[in-house]
Amino acid sequence: MDNIVILTGAGISAESGVPTFRGPDGLWEGHRVEDVATPEAFDRDPVLVQRFYDARRAALATVAPNAAHRALARLDAAWPGDLLIVTQNVDDLHERGGAKRLLHMHGELRRALCTGCGAAPAWDGDLSGDPPCPRCRQPRLRPDIVWFGEMPYHMDAIEAAIAGCDLFVSIGTSGAVYPAANFVRWAEASGAATLELNLEPSAGTPLFDSARHGPASLLVPALVAELLAG
Ligand code: NAD
Repeated sequence: MDNIVILTGAGISAESGVPTFRGPDGLWEGHRVEDVATPEAFDRDPVLVQRFYDARRAALATVAPNAAHRALARLDAAWPGDLLIVTQNVDDLHERGGAKRLLHMHGELRRALCTGCGAAPAWDGDLSGDPPCPRCRQPRLRPDIVWFGEMPYHMDAIEAAIAGCDLFVSIGTSGAVYPAANFVRWAEASGAATLELNLEPSAGTPLFDSARHGPASLLVPALVAELLAG
């Protein structure tokens, strides 16, 4: 076992107090996804969308990495082979937990994106009120979040890592959002072993070689201990 790719989703941050995407009520923080997470929603009601992400960004100050984030950072630091953590999460808990080999495929709350000049500055304040872009000075900043219908980031690097991996692990993701939901198929095609860790069986469970169900804060440290023990 040399090379590992780990895909994480909202479930790994749930025990830190970050709500998952589709709770039992089918809403994300009380909003329909179509009203806050599409380019059309931003065109229709930019004030609502900016306020929604401003609230999510501000809430990051009230949460902390949990044992699952910290365990993945330990694995990242100690694993001698290639390793890549691909997160669908827009929170910053992996990096605050210490992970280094990390890609945010759906963007980051703590970054803005200028629709004028394309700059993507680090951003910790609000975007409501249309502050100017630090580069072009135009008031055209949006959250640097990949919305439904937009192209995820880093796809070339992710495809290459999956093509070369021996183990693919999916943690805390429902398998409902594409293209991430297809990564297990790519991994299988490249001959990798595939393992799902999730609170409960997901839509993707039958696609994995094996699955373990329970809270990420227990399952992930246990897996990391196994991997590091060889
Ligand atoms: P999802 O909400 O669709 O699925 C979360 C999965 O995690 C579910 O299968 C659930 O059973 C599982 N889960 C819940 N608690 C868990 C726990 N304690 N341990 C292990 N598993 C647990 O999330 P998704 O598949 O990541 O897709 C959601 C999309 O929403 C992503 O694109 C992401 O950008 C966005 N999102 C991100 C965050 C975040 O950054 N933390 C939060 C909400 C939504």
